[in-house]
Amino acid sequence: MKTNLLGLDAAGLAGFFAELGEKPFRARQVLQWVHQRREGEFSRMSDLAKSLRDKLTEKACVQAPAIVGDTAASDGTRKWLLKVDGANAVEAVFIPETRRATLCISSQAGCVLDCAFCSTGKQGFNRNLTTAEIVGQLWLASKLVDTRISNVVMMGMGEPMLNLDNVIPALRLMLDDNAYGLSRRRVTVSTSGVVPEMDRLRDECPVALAVSLHAPNDRLRDRLVPVNRRYPLRELIAACNRYLEKAPRDFITFEYVMLDGVNDSDTNARELAAIAKQVRCKYNLIPFNPFPQSGFHRSSDERIRRFASVLQNAGITVTTRKTRGDDIAAACGQLAGDVADRTRRSANRVVAIKEVHA
Ligand code: SAH
Ligand code: SF4
Repeated sequence: MKTNLLGLDAAGLAGFFAELGEKPFRARQVLQWVHQRREGEFSRMSDLAKSLRDKLTEKACVQAPAIVGDTAASDGTRKWLLKVDGANAVEAVFIPETRRATLCISSQAGCVLDCAFCSTGKQGFNRNLTTAEIVGQLWLASKLVDTRISNVVMMGMGEPMLNLDNVIPALRLMLDDNAYGLSRRRVTVSTSGVVPEMDRLRDECPVALAVSLHAPNDRLRDRLVPVNRRYPLRELIAACNRYLEKAPRDFITFEYVMLDGVNDSDTNARELAAIAKQVRCKYNLIPFNPFPQSGFHRSSDERIRRFASVLQNAGITVTTRKTRGDDIAAACGQLAGDVADRTRRSANRVVAIKEVHA
């Protein structure tokens, strides 16, 4: 079995080179070749000794997921369907904007948390992605687009907090100056609120945090985001405040999906305003992306505007996520089933990708 170097952060690579009997600076050189220059062939790493190149070819590889779908939208959004094994594929979505370019990536195939409005959750959990599969999404996208990717959001398929063993080394590579060199403020992990793991991320690799709130009280949140039954709002807000002690930004982004007649009343907006008194936060309203048999509908544009204005009048910063890439069904985390099935599903779906305001 060859070692896939895409899955090793700086410390991991240093360990691998030590085992080969090579000096630490060689590990750094290879880190740069692989991530900065996106070189996958050791034979082309021209400043390494021939003997080392041969040794690496024999013992290691640089292997990203296979691209099985590549679609571009009229607005420049681009979506890749990536096969990670015979039965599973995940999505990565590239979102160019005027002042930044964001890549939305996945952390798991499927998700165990089963939020009521999420198609990924409806399909159940298949498996954790490896570090190589997580970083591989950024590696591939960086190779395929001309623009430098300035932001990464972990808002594709899966719950990153339930795969931190693999997510943390991937984040370290994103931040490493010898790899992608992204600012901590421009790498965002999104969670539905797995409290103990939020503390772990804070201690081991604090990056910007988005929390999928989606409901302003426990009664409603228990229904929409079932993990709330385990970690209710009071505990979630306390965890957010602990996270802020070490976070690169001084606020949490609360994501709030707008579901017609479910969580979009003026009363709900006032309840959210009360939460904003307990933790420094910004709200990001997400118009619901419908999928078959979801049982939910998107709130009207008028309702979303009114809801946002109640929050704004309370002095809270609110953004409403724009719908991007909807002509190519570019919703992060809306895929499930086998690869063939997924391709068909995503082709049929009218959806939108997520945009975080960084
Ligand atoms: N598991 C993590 C990250 C992936 S989901 C989390 O839940 O935060 C990324 C965001 O998309 C979350 O805020 C999620 O609630 C939201 N989302 C899921 N399904 C959606 C849908 N059908 N329409 C709009 N947003 C959705
Ligand atoms: Fe999982 Fe996030 Fe979907 Fe909930 S919203 S089921 S946590 S991917």
